[in-house]
Amino acid sequence: MIKSDSRKKISSKEAREKIQNFFSSLNNRTPKEIKKIKRLAMKHNLKLKDNKKNFCRKCLSIYKNPKIRIKRGIKNIECETCGYISRWKIKKSY
Ligand SMILES: [Zn+2]
Repeated sequence: MIKSDSRKKISSKEAREKIQNFFSSLNNRTPKEIKKIKRLAMKHNLKLKDNKKNFCRKCLSIYKNPKIRIKRGIKNIECETCGYISRWKIKKSY
């Protein structure tokens, strides 16, 4: 049986798995947890990529019911917690 110890140093592979796990279920995640995951990703030089679009850049809250507006290929997502607007370019791959 493998016992996981969160205090010990983890490998990049373990870090990536941890991050994937984290983003596979975002319900009830707190800004504190997101901060931790972000720090973990930075430490291991891992990119959060599209996962970054799931939470507010400013207050780190998970988007539950954000206001989304699309204008000229830019997606504006307004955080319902702090009102910060994140902008994402929409890929024209389709
Ligand atoms: Zn916010």
